[in-house]
Amino acid sequence: MRSWIDVPPDHDFPIQNLPYGVFENDCPARVGVAIGEFVFDLKAAHDAGLFDATVVARDNVFDRGSLNAFMALGRHAWSGVRHWLTSLLSTDNPTLRDDAALRKRLLIPQAQVRMKLPVEIGDFTDFYASKHHASNVGSMFRDPANPLTPNWVHMPIGYHGRAGSVFVSGVDVRRPCGQTKADDAPAPTFGPTRGLDYELELGFFVGTGNEPGQPIPIDRAADHIFGMVLLNDWSARDIQRWEYVPLGPFLGKSFATSISPWVVPLDALAPFRVEGPAQSPTPLPHLRSDAPWAMDIELEVLLKSAAMREPARVSRVNFRTMYWSIVQMLAHHTSNGTPLRTGDLCGTGTISGEAEDSRGCLLELSWKGTKPVHLPGGEMRSFLQDGDAVVMRGGCQGDGYRVGFGEVSAKVLPARSD
Ligand code: CA
Repeated sequence: MRSWIDVPPDHDFPIQNLPYGVFENDCPARVGVAIGEFVFDLKAAHDAGLFDATVVARDNVFDRGSLNAFMALGRHAWSGVRHWLTSLLSTDNPTLRDDAALRKRLLIPQAQVRMKLPVEIGDFTDFYASKHHASNVGSMFRDPANPLTPNWVHMPIGYHGRAGSVFVSGVDVRRPCGQTKADDAPAPTFGPTRGLDYELELGFFVGTGNEPGQPIPIDRAADHIFGMVLLNDWSARDIQRWEYVPLGPFLGKSFATSISPWVVPLDALAPFRVEGPAQSPTPLPHLRSDAPWAMDIELEVLLKSAAMREPARVSRVNFRTMYWSIVQMLAHHTSNGTPLRTGDLCGTGTISGEAEDSRGCLLELSWKGTKPVHLPGGEMRSFLQDGDAVVMRGGCQGDGYRVGFGEVSAKVLPARSD
């Protein structure tokens, strides 16, 4: 499968990907698809009458500042639009290929647009699905001989996060202030965090939800998932550590979460589904699936301090190492009947592998600050400094092509000084 738009084999956005995003230039925000270095303007395509009414309704769902209206149409519409786009952009289709005027209207260089938060996010849930991550954190803060809590192997542990502080890549993050208390201090103090960290995660968006009281069975979960993004779940470890007992994370997490702007459709990731790690004990029936739902997605984290010219890689991990799958997360989430809605975002939790250089946050890489990470140029990091930029990238390697996520990137700004 090839497109008449030239896309190098190592590019993130070939015709096999076709991720959705929301962009603006001198026109208001609207929905587009990335292909190579271009954005394909879906609103303009709809206005031009290119869509068959059997694919999407007459109402232009792409004339919006979010993907929600399109997502709410459901899997049939998502597949229809993807199929139509694949055909329109493929080498042997002359409709757009041979119409220079139409091409100029529908294909806009990505360098000329600003990417917006792609989805109006209703609820944000964050899981804790990497066994290596949970084991490392449990070893540091609980008991190295017994790092996992007894419930961990029976369900994907999660908590409700904050949707209002999910930002798109490129929005810089201000160092938060909060209450912290050193182990040997008699009382807490309030001030800028000294334990600012990132967490490498993937996020998945709920396309269509469920009625209250109606769990989504695991074998139907994929019908409800629209697509995936890179997610950086910024964390203030010292604030988190003081506040998290007994109800879990709160202000140590809620100040910011960053996501990549392009939502990679679940259909584009389907060829990269693989068997995940063996699950023992066998999960309860409602969390059991015969289909392989791990995904072969290579991910990397890069840091760039204010003094560095280029970002340097600090870790690399494959998403296939995750213990709990996204369909298990969705089935577990709705198993009590809670309604998920179009636009809800679920994070997978920090993605860490077995190797020391595959750990998905500084807390683990620096082992609670005892083994600082060395950066090229001689700087060291246990936690993030002001001016540091964190860049996450990832993608799947196909045969002669790549399905990539682009990147999520943001810089740390100094704490408020007043
Ligand atoms: Ca997290």
